[in-house]
Amino acid sequence: MEKVASALLKKVATYNISAVEIVKKAYLYAYEKHKNQFRESGEAYITHPLAVANILADLHADTATICAGLLHDTLEDTKTSEEELLNTFGPEITSLVKGVTNITNMDFYDKTTLNQVNLRKLLLSMNKDVRIIIIKLADRIHNMRTLEYKKDLRKQQLKSQETIKIFAPIAEHLGLYQTKLELEDLSFMFLAPEDYKQIKESHAKIEQEFRIYQEEVEEKISKVLQDNYIFSTIKFRIKNKYGVYKNIMNGETLENIHDFLIFTIILDNVDNCYLALKYIHELYKPNSRYFKDYIAQPKQNHYESLHTTVFGPEDKLMQMQIRTPEMEQMAKYGITYYWHQLDNAKDIMQEAFNKQYPLMQSIILANRNARSYADFIQIVESDVLGEKIPIYNNKGELIEITNGATPIDYAYLNYSNVANHLAAVIVNGVAVNFDYTIQPYDKIRIITDINALGPDESWLEIAKTATAKQKIKEYLRRNTQRLTRSPW
Ligand code: MN
Repeated sequence: MEKVASALLKKVATYNISAVEIVKKAYLYAYEKHKNQFRESGEAYITHPLAVANILADLHADTATICAGLLHDTLEDTKTSEEELLNTFGPEITSLVKGVTNITNMDFYDKTTLNQVNLRKLLLSMNKDVRIIIIKLADRIHNMRTLEYKKDLRKQQLKSQETIKIFAPIAEHLGLYQTKLELEDLSFMFLAPEDYKQIKESHAKIEQEFRIYQEEVEEKISKVLQDNYIFSTIKFRIKNKYGVYKNIMNGETLENIHDFLIFTIILDNVDNCYLALKYIHELYKPNSRYFKDYIAQPKQNHYESLHTTVFGPEDKLMQMQIRTPEMEQMAKYGITYYWHQLDNAKDIMQEAFNKQYPLMQSIILANRNARSYADFIQIVESDVLGEKIPIYNNKGELIEITNGATPIDYAYLNYSNVANHLAAVIVNGVAVNFDYTIQPYDKIRIITDINALGPDESWLEIAKTATAKQKIKEYLRRNTQRLTRSPW
């Protein structure tokens, strides 16, 4: 057997010995099916499903998911029937493979529409089985890692755009930060090669310059904690290139990015996280503007940590992310965290995804509001996966809203049943106009009144999100219809 294949089996054996036999069977089956097929790089095709399965095994994926990773291209790219797959591997694996298989033979659609049809199918499939999107993310990671071999340069650009607009944000919504960061940087490299190169160079330079301080900082922190009987693990990394690029696009300079140099400090319990914060602030003065307590208020993707930015050696800004080992696992693996906790995490993971992550509900809402495939993708890109800012709702909970949104958007996105009766908006205790642009950390309260005038044409101008615009149009249409049907 091939080296990579035995490495995969070894990896799987470290966390799920009982899976090895069936994974081996799936590998040999996929190997036979893809025999004589090659990738654009010239490599044997099997290297691709094998790489996908390896990425999934790093996430400690369950047996069915690893097998589906190996088999994911058999239905689409080889002469394998669903029935054959079903007879050989059973319903669970077959349904996962079907989930990631694109519809390809619909002659009546053009390429763009076909892609939209498939994206919609994929996004809605998460409602039944979130593992489908995780296999797709692994598939995309490997395709992006090998994208340089794609001969069609236009396709290279389209894949990169889709990855940065859809797949990287989905990874973030699921809390899979490692995946998000890698997908962003790979897309960025193909979309803006010159900028990428420049940032890569300054990245290396700053990292090099900081190297002399890095150890000193780690030693100081670990010593002060140890003196207080707190034991820590400290890791260091720098911000991803696309993240830096976005900062620079917003007019910041490299030296002023508050989270360019990132230390992760891992402590055994929550109390020690807050204690460590105190000791670190005694060592290095904090820049209070950037302090965040994601333990008291976790992100919507369940990320938890304390964040503080301090003035380090030579006044260099250093971000400290302080958390427990469990929080660290959540930060790395997101929703697939459950795979590390339980032998059979499938149902618990699915329930958590459907009930505790807002992603699925927003996709369902987008699907309900969309009038075409193109419309659906556009709403998903802008309203569901577009850039978000944090705000407080009426209950003081930290939630996220599309950057640039107005109170009208807020009302339709969060209180769609009563948004047509919007009467007034209070932001941070003060009444504002409907066309106010919501700012980070605003606390928003809407007041509705059954006798309110309701939406008019001006609301369409004010609303920024596709969801709100749709709802307003719907209301206006119904209302003009009602008027024309009236007796006078
Ligand atoms: Mn594939």
